[in-house]
Amino acid sequence: AEELVHRSDKLSAVGQLAAGIAHEIRNPLTAIKGFTQLLQEGAQRDVQYYQVILSELDRVNLIVDEFLLLAKPSPSMFRSCNVEQMLLAIITLLEPQAILQNVRILPTIAAGIDQIEIEENQIKQVLINLLKNAIEAMPDGGDLIIELRQEEEGLLRIRFIDQGCGIPEEQLHKVGDPFFTTKEKGTGLGLMVSHKIIEDHGGQLEIHSTVGVGTTIDVLLPLSLEEEKELLLV
Ligand code: ADP
Ligand code: MG
Repeated sequence: AEELVHRSDKLSAVGQLAAGIAHEIRNPLTAIKGFTQLLQEGAQRDVQYYQVILSELDRVNLIVDEFLLLAKPSPSMFRSCNVEQMLLAIITLLEPQAILQNVRILPTIAAGIDQIEIEENQIKQVLINLLKNAIEAMPDGGDLIIELRQEEEGLLRIRFIDQGCGIPEEQLHKVGDPFFTTKEKGTGLGLMVSHKIIEDHGGQLEIHSTVGVGTTIDVLLPLSLEEEKELLLV
């Protein structure tokens, strides 16, 4: 099963986000209000109430953080970057979580990769989202291969190959929809935001998945937006 997450209905999905976000933020806020009222009445089991308040606040923050990234980067924020360095830094960042889950991260980086023009913080966020999803898909461990290579046509390919649970065929068209998650503590915003960022960079996000085998995700990015325009003219 495969899916090219490059459809305009995913963009109109961003429109639906406004309604969705209000709903998702209201739930934790309702809990916070309720527990604050109980605290005000001087109830006994204060410690538990504080825990609920703090975890609900974390959730609001998580949703708002991911939501904020939806702002379109302006071309003036695009800078020349070394993706190899950036990728290795992100792997180091998530290595502790991987080790805890017995996930072995195996980067394969081709030689001679050029600098790429991107909005660094946004692309970093995309790579973190994809890496986290891959690790989270392997609760019992496994290998996560990350390939970085440059195609002839001024295109960079970053491929994540995990040995995780995979995505059932009937769910494949839903991943990337706002708030679609199969995780207890998921926000269902990671892939939507990632897709939007990659699209703003003139790139593409492709997902191939087989249940019980794993998932392969490709991020394709033009080396520069100029390069992208030339590709379109051919
Ligand atoms: P979240 O991670 O908060 O659930 P995402 O938008 O990042 O939100 O992912 C949406 C859903 O897509 C996940 O809940 C999961 O069901 C599915 N998914 C994403 N990446 C993978 C993967 N590598 N392997 C299996 N399922 C995945
Ligand atoms: Mg995620």
